[in-house]
Amino acid sequence: MTPVRWDPLTGTPLLVAPARIERPHDTGPVAPGDPTPARGPGHADCPFCPGAEDQTPPEVWAVRPPGGAPDTTGWSVRAVPNRFPVLPPDEGIHEVVVNSPRHIVELWELSPTEMATAVDAWALRERAVRNDPRGLWPFVFLNQGAAAGASLQHSHAQLIGLPFAPPLLAAREDAFQRAPACPVCAELADPAIARIADAGPLTAWCPQAPPLSGAVRIAPRRHAPEWPARPGRALAEILGPLMRALAALVGTAAMNLWVNQRHPGGPDAYHWHVDIVPRRATLAGMELGAGVFSLLNDPTALAAALDPRVSAAEVAAN
Ligand SMILES: [Zn+2]
Ligand SMILES: [Zn+2]
Repeated sequence: MTPVRWDPLTGTPLLVAPARIERPHDTGPVAPGDPTPARGPGHADCPFCPGAEDQTPPEVWAVRPPGGAPDTTGWSVRAVPNRFPVLPPDEGIHEVVVNSPRHIVELWELSPTEMATAVDAWALRERAVRNDPRGLWPFVFLNQGAAAGASLQHSHAQLIGLPFAPPLLAAREDAFQRAPACPVCAELADPAIARIADAGPLTAWCPQAPPLSGAVRIAPRRHAPEWPARPGRALAEILGPLMRALAALVGTAAMNLWVNQRHPGGPDAYHWHVDIVPRRATLAGMELGAGVFSLLNDPTALAAALDPRVSAAEVAAN
């Protein structure tokens, strides 16, 4: 079976990966209106916990003390090929970065130092995809909770390298290239921006036209097409308080996070940013059939509600 198929009616690519039906699930079924699954007390079967290193393909990279052997315990972040990849290895890359040896479900349960280590690992592995001689399109994302598509509770990011231009990523690059001025710089310069918080070189705000209702965006205030080699420390400072506050406000811990940046060879006009999208509702007919989304929140009101919560979280953390 050809692993990549295109819908002739929409030009949308599909990855044919029927083996993924066999992948293990411990996030439970999603009940409508209750997107946060019950957290199972036991995680004896978790393939991402220490001691289960033989449950994943051999690791490609890990943070572990000097002298530690690969695929043994003792690691603090671990990258492995996805055992149920969306693409076969000769076509592309599908990797998992296990964010912590602790069986944590929400990213914000990590300490700022742990989160910085995990995010730096995402960047390091993303760079490996970026340097792949096949010229793949890299994409980093995190699915948290069953409603956000996570099949395993244990917090992990994923990394794909696609052998074609993914439509939304390519559309974003086009938008940056065509715009007379960088749209992210322009939104950040707008005094009416629904800003939430600043952390080091980064700003978080609610974009006026988000990818999904309730989304929050983080970007550097200074224009840069790609994130730095080690974005972890700066991002960890804001991600934890922000995601926690967003979850409390919208009433679900289920969320997707993804990193938008230019692909290798992409335009300098690109301004990298991270989107964090809470998943309160499943996609419905209008979204799936017409590609049209509706907003449940006024972004300005959402930012105003988030601002004090994030500030309070920062004060509490210090
Ligand atoms: Zn686990
Ligand atoms: Zn910019």
